[in-house]
Amino acid sequence: MRAVCWHGKHDVRVDEVADPQIVSKGDVIVKVALTCICGSDLHLYNGYVPTMKKGDIMGHEFVGEIVETGSGVSRFHVGDRVIVPFPISCGVCWYCKHELWSLCDNSNPNSWMLEHLYGDTGGGIFGYSHMYGGFSGGQAEYVRVPFADVGLEKIPDGIPYEQVVLLTDICPTGYQAADNCNISPGDTVAVWGCGPVGLMAMMSARHLGAERVIGIDRFPERLQMAHSQCRAEVLNYEEVDVAEALQNMTGGRGPDSCIDAVGLEAVGTGIEGIYDSVKQTLRLETDRTSALRQLTKACRKGGTLSIVGVYSGFIDNFPMGAIFAKGLTLHAGQAHVHKYLPHLLKLVEEQQLNPSSIITHRLPLDQAPGAYKTFLNKQDACIKIVLNPQESASAARPGPEEARAV
Ligand code: NAD
Ligand code: ZN
Repeated sequence: MRAVCWHGKHDVRVDEVADPQIVSKGDVIVKVALTCICGSDLHLYNGYVPTMKKGDIMGHEFVGEIVETGSGVSRFHVGDRVIVPFPISCGVCWYCKHELWSLCDNSNPNSWMLEHLYGDTGGGIFGYSHMYGGFSGGQAEYVRVPFADVGLEKIPDGIPYEQVVLLTDICPTGYQAADNCNISPGDTVAVWGCGPVGLMAMMSARHLGAERVIGIDRFPERLQMAHSQCRAEVLNYEEVDVAEALQNMTGGRGPDSCIDAVGLEAVGTGIEGIYDSVKQTLRLETDRTSALRQLTKACRKGGTLSIVGVYSGFIDNFPMGAIFAKGLTLHAGQAHVHKYLPHLLKLVEEQQLNPSSIITHRLPLDQAPGAYKTFLNKQDACIKIVLNPQESASAARPGPEEARAV
């Protein structure tokens, strides 16, 4: 089959690789109908996530049709169309039982690597390095999905793949970001990053009752989408002092909650931006934190910082004193997709939520190398790219109707 493989920094290729096989009785094989490129994939592409190996298959956002089931699978059958959450979860450990699905104790065979780095283990993720389990990802024609009975959702008849593909990750991620803000009526939520995750966080904050939502970025098309799709007020962080502008917009108090949908590759401005870039290049810090510093500065006393942008290691010049003095609450982590998926699917079915409205690019899988470049450089007003692995597949493997239509 064809799959998007990692070969090094800024080098992904579409290779011919072996088809996946059932390994455990709880596995299914999914024929991928649509798969996306995520901001998290850019961290792999840019070489910021350790333990990637040449030939690793990328991709953790995918939907498709089950073509084979292991003997222990009871909830699904061949022919079912499914949404696959990006974290892999066993469903029976203490963490899964407590709805902390992405922290599963059993799904990651290499969790000792995470323990070595971070002092504790963590669950597996499709296509996201060996420390997250070394699982082959879904930017491929087929993918093996372990623990299939746990967390997969059947796509109701009549719902096209495109409408639900963002429920595999960024929609629940944005929803969790907003949920962690414990939004009360009248609240103002500020969101750093108007990429796919930030847009989903803003849509969710609105849905959960925020009175005002403020989006921060530098790309006009992303700010425009925040305004049009999420009814957000917007700030261009290259044009204004963000913390000062937010204070002015909120009567001097600051937003009630601040969401970081940027992560470790934040682009800073002025001296601070240069400082972070130099330190990261010299490996004196692993992550750039200009957005995170702004969140901390801008948030009102007693407010919430909700961090869904990915951080990987050590940071410098972080205002811990401000977090303490202002009495801020901090939430972070990979999304517990399984917790939110059924509810979000219902919202999509009832047409209360339309995550697919942010998709700007639809391409065959073969064009992945160029698509990664476009998404990295935010060229061509790109916001979210979906890839179709079946579009140029051999005629011997006909794809589902929806996949062909994209
Ligand atoms: P993206 O690269 O498309 O978007 C990031 C946005 O942040 C860009 O629009 C960029 O211009 C903006 N940005 C950069 N520096 C900024 C700054 N200083 N202030 C404000 N905005 C700034 O990526 P995405 O797909 O939206 O993902 C965003 C982050 O969320 C990534 O770190 C990704 O890894 C992470 N993520 C986390 C989870 C999770 O489960 N926690 C899931 C998916 C993605
Ligand atoms: Zn993702």
